[in-house]
Amino acid sequence: MTYQPTIGLEIHVELSTKSKMFCGCKNNPDEKNPNVNICPICTAQPGTLPVINEEAVKKVIKTGLALNCHIPEYSKFDRKNYFYPDLPKGYQISQYDKPLCEDGFLEIRSPISGDRISRNIRIRRVHLEEDTGRLLHENGYSLVDFNRAGIPLMELVTEPDIVSGKEARQFAQDLHLILHYLDVSDADMEKGQMRVEVNISLSSGKELGTKVEIKNLNSFRSVERAIDYEIKRQTELLNKGEKVVQETRGWLDEAVASSRRVAGDSELDEKGITVSQREKESAHDYRYFPEPDLPPLHFSNDFIDSIKKEIPELPRQKKERFIKKYKLDEKNADVLVYNKALGEYFETIIKDLSSDSIKLAADFLINTEAKRYNIPHSYFSQLLALIRDGKISKTAAKEILPEIVTKQPLEVIKERGLEQMSDKGDLEKIIKETISKNPKAVGDYKLGKPNVLQFLAGKVMQESRGKANPQIVQSTLTKLLKEV
Ligand SMILES: [Zn+2]
Repeated sequence: MTYQPTIGLEIHVELSTKSKMFCGCKNNPDEKNPNVNICPICTAQPGTLPVINEEAVKKVIKTGLALNCHIPEYSKFDRKNYFYPDLPKGYQISQYDKPLCEDGFLEIRSPISGDRISRNIRIRRVHLEEDTGRLLHENGYSLVDFNRAGIPLMELVTEPDIVSGKEARQFAQDLHLILHYLDVSDADMEKGQMRVEVNISLSSGKELGTKVEIKNLNSFRSVERAIDYEIKRQTELLNKGEKVVQETRGWLDEAVASSRRVAGDSELDEKGITVSQREKESAHDYRYFPEPDLPPLHFSNDFIDSIKKEIPELPRQKKERFIKKYKLDEKNADVLVYNKALGEYFETIIKDLSSDSIKLAADFLINTEAKRYNIPHSYFSQLLALIRDGKISKTAAKEILPEIVTKQPLEVIKERGLEQMSDKGDLEKIIKETISKNPKAVGDYKLGKPNVLQFLAGKVMQESRGKANPQIVQSTLTKLLKEV
């Protein structure tokens, strides 16, 4: 029997602010030395008081607005109480019933119903809290690093609208891209700057099944695979008449899973598994109450409007514009939108180009190594104009990319003798020679064999050392063959 999966996501994102959430310590996720960016506030010394980081509040509201959320006029912070060695205060400042953003949605291209159909995944809330420190367990003892303690952390919770691992992955990827465009976070998943948790249950009828939470998902791929795995695991349990336990499970990718398998644990699947970590706490276990050391927040319409104005063109709009304005196909538009820097470079180089070269520019930029080099915009535009005018072949253009970082393309082409042969007289000479050297091929051509023309054109290209203009070769060759 198969069951309907109901999936919701909780996504934590470290914000790229200059300082931490409630103190002036540097927010530097790349700091290698432990306990450098700490002070009495973020290490919770008695008598210290937190101060709200306005930049962090703005970044969360900006994200909420980009995700079509409602921004309530009032918001507040709450204490979430739990004891863990990486949490110096013994509670985390978070938001309970008055989050910064509510009731939004993100429109994603659903991989379920084909790329062309969009689906709205509703967003329940986006709130702001502080990150915890980090524990390192080594050689039988544990160390704690508080550099991360107090870094502003945004938490986004979706409604359970997602129906598969693929769709969850799509949501996470689309969100990740928006965060980049908004410049609110680097959201590097490998560095733990964006962390995804999954809530999943299976049901056969109207009643929802028991909810299981999966943690430790640090790549888009593991989000998809952990969900697929969990659907399979829960389906098997239900089909055996067993119960799904409400709990938190961790995801072990294949490397960890297979090492455990070698250790003799036979239930492990080499493709990665989820394992039970603990039974889930309820909200009342955290004894939430309003943070007495921070004032409640009140937002004026002007404040919200000023943040709205800072929202740049987002990926979806940019893609539509690229398709409409530049007549790009969907695939090229996707590449240029997904790679923000490349898309910006594309728009700079085409400024000096006529509209008939724009498609060429997109193709050339995407299909060559051009993006690897730091080619000045004007040189790139010149190169594209030379390809368009038939002065150089695409192959030769590709070859000189590393050189035009510092030199004008035309100069390089002349130096290396790569100018394309477009002179009909010169080309006719080579073509005539080729025809006389290949009587068998010419005979086959006369018998109507279709591939022979390409073969002869290839010979001409070889003879010209790749410099012949392919269009002129084709047309001249066809013409001269008729005369033989
Ligand atoms: Zn501090």
